[in-house]
Amino acid sequence: MGNSESLKNEAKSQPHVLNRARAAYLGLAIGDALGATTEFMTPGEIKVAYKVHRKIIGGGWLYLKPGQVTDDTEMSLALGRALLASEAWDRKGIADNFLAWMRSQPVDIGATCRRGIRDYMFKGQLETPYNDWDAGNGAAMRMMPVALFTLGHDELLSRYAKEQAHLTHNHVLSDAACLVIGRMVHRSIFGCNRFELHELTRELVAEYHTFRFNNYRGNASSYVVDTLQTVFHYLFTTGSFEECLIGVVNQGGDADTTGAIAGMIAGAFYGLEEIPARWLKKLNREVREEVEAQASRLVKLSPWGCSRLE
Ligand code: MN
Ligand code: MN
Repeated sequence: MGNSESLKNEAKSQPHVLNRARAAYLGLAIGDALGATTEFMTPGEIKVAYKVHRKIIGGGWLYLKPGQVTDDTEMSLALGRALLASEAWDRKGIADNFLAWMRSQPVDIGATCRRGIRDYMFKGQLETPYNDWDAGNGAAMRMMPVALFTLGHDELLSRYAKEQAHLTHNHVLSDAACLVIGRMVHRSIFGCNRFELHELTRELVAEYHTFRFNNYRGNASSYVVDTLQTVFHYLFTTGSFEECLIGVVNQGGDADTTGAIAGMIAGAFYGLEEIPARWLKKLNREVREEVEAQASRLVKLSPWGCSRLE
């Protein structure tokens, strides 16, 4: 009896899980498209130019079309495509897709990502050696497909988060950031509350004090510690998906990436209904379709999904 009751509850929760998984992936792409406009600007410059930046209008230092995304979303999609093609964890497939992406002349590519992909191209290297300078946010920004693919399995998340990161970035702080982002997405997809989400950041700070984010000082650089402090600050001082993303992208700096990471977590936390329709409409259509398709298919392949979904 108890068992059939819990099965019924579980069946009811399935649409919510898929909804939140899609919202997380869409949140990533929306944060990227929205934040690209203010990337590398200061909060003061943003205020002069836009008062408050809140529309997906493209432009920025990359001269984007409205709704166009950058490397954050593109690398995530490349990674996700590899997993869906193999229907399994496939580091070489991911590296091949990163290489194909680099050759497609992307609108932007980070220096550390480029180095890692070139080392794969020339040496077949799937794990870049430890490097003190690898604490950028380039591995953390592409955690979305890994989080969905490992849904329901924390150990797999830990392993794969590191393996995908080490294709280009090998640093303890980058590893820790990748893992906490994955965990925050996992918990949010299963409907955790704000307190439980905050608990994960406390565990991170207990292990690495440098991630402390009370008394936020407004640094939003691409150093992964600055990036996560910015994301956490706005995640926990705002009450909606929209407010969180607007806060993050108006902080400038690496705004497309802080936007992308905040978008993943806030998307999963607040769900699809909370994503403003005007942002969804503006997002590049092909990107939106692939993002939604990947989200559902990755959840179906996950440990959580393969036992529950057709
Ligand atoms: Mn970018
Ligand atoms: Mn960026």
